[in-house]
Amino acid sequence: MPLDVALNDVVRLRKPHPCGGYEWTVVRLGADIGMVCNTCKHRVLLPRREFGKRVKRFVARAPRAPGSAGTLPPDEPSIGTTE
Ligand SMILES: [Zn+2]
Repeated sequence: MPLDVALNDVVRLRKPHPCGGYEWTVVRLGADIGMVCNTCKHRVLLPRREFGKRVKRFVARAPRAPGSAGTLPPDEPSIGTTE
């Protein structure tokens, strides 16, 4: 099953970043997933497979356009609307 991830999604990883932060915002999609640490703003690239292994859960989902999930960056990121 392909990993359902889109730009501006916020994810929580299984292990904390050395800065102590657990939450990352997705900033790049491709063969590798780019993420920025929400705590220290450090940016990393992870292969999709590795990303899938490290993510514990999604904290916030960016809005998906119906029928084109994950292909376009949303105009209004919903960062901050954690559940
Ligand atoms: Zn960090």
